[in-house]
Amino acid sequence: MQKVRIPVTADPVKSANKKQTFDGLVPATRLTRFQGMLAETSHQDLEVEVKFAVDEQGISYFSGTAKTAVKLTCQRCNQPFPVDISTRFAYAPVSSEQDLEELPERYEGVEVNEFGEVNLHGLIEDELILALPLVARHEPKDCPVDRDAMTWGEIDEGSDESSENPFSVLQELKRK
Ligand SMILES: [Zn+2]
Repeated sequence: MQKVRIPVTADPVKSANKKQTFDGLVPATRLTRFQGMLAETSHQDLEVEVKFAVDEQGISYFSGTAKTAVKLTCQRCNQPFPVDISTRFAYAPVSSEQDLEELPERYEGVEVNEFGEVNLHGLIEDELILALPLVARHEPKDCPVDRDAMTWGEIDEGSDESSENPFSVLQELKRK
């Protein structure tokens, strides 16, 4: 089946009232900021699903997923390596600071422009950029850098005062 092209902009309130859903593509060439962060230009179009709806509180929202496969530069060996990037998003349009404060936490607020529209491609691109790993690295077993050189990455197990896992902190940061 031919995938549709995800519209560049959308009126989230109108689309919510029409309960529009899209299962389609955003051309890779549209995502110039995202492309700039990759090891190589990606020619794979982004697969996006997005649905517009009104929730039981009467809030118009749109939510969905985006995924693609890209190449990033490994920070350890400087070689490109493949990574699957996927993200989920849920936005609700807001028109004032107050709207934003009253918005349930499950949504991110997005301001509409003077035509009542949002830049869907831009939002999805922002989400993809946030979904990139903070530090791009091969899996240790796949990285050609000598294993001896990797011991710097080991966690100091000498102190057992804190059971805090540093990776959970990373996960928290990634969510922001
Ligand atoms: Zn590597």
